[in-house]
Amino acid sequence: MRRLAVFLASSDGHDPAHAELTAAVGAELARRGIGIVYGGGRRGLMGVLADSALAAGGEVIGVMPGDMVEREWAHREVTELVICDSMHERKALMAERADAFVALPGGLGTLEEIFEVWSWRQLGFHAKPVGFLDAGGFWTPLLGALRGLVDAGFLAAPTLDDLAVAPDLPSLLTTLEHQLHTVPRPARGR
Ligand code: AMP
Repeated sequence: MRRLAVFLASSDGHDPAHAELTAAVGAELARRGIGIVYGGGRRGLMGVLADSALAAGGEVIGVMPGDMVEREWAHREVTELVICDSMHERKALMAERADAFVALPGGLGTLEEIFEVWSWRQLGFHAKPVGFLDAGGFWTPLLGALRGLVDAGFLAAPTLDDLAVAPDLPSLLTTLEHQLHTVPRPARGR
């Protein structure tokens, strides 16, 4: 894997453990020579991720719409800041540049971004793996709610099982790497 897209919070959250986790992820990706593609923000966990990877000598590509850059939301020290026209273009460029996608702790924006790439994978529009870093069980309640959608017949079990979920980065990367070499089966009804 050359580059990983990371979706995560533009705020810090209440628990300092989230920033600690994020800093460790940034440093570990840099150590492994895996470039980061992210939304380009300088605040919150987004900023922590970029700073930690850059400090460890990693490559960080930020992608952000021009009006967000004008609002001074962008991290100016990233390896490359790609300025685009819209949120739609931002997500398309991030998807193009990355080999896989993961969610770290985050809120509405993070969910929207990871759900979109997961939805497109299950429809067969791309074959890049999608995962959740479930450190400390952060995503466990959400994953439980998704299991409820399977039970209700609205989400195919293989689609949910296709998500890479792991409590630590090395395990998550192992699963993503494995999936990179496996062609996903697009959903064909349930
Ligand atoms: P959230 O998980 O709701 O914090 O969303 C993260 C996403 O929110 C980012 O990818 C951006 O699309 C957007 N966002 C909201 N506020 C900011 C900000 N101050 N800087 C950068 N991105 C932001």
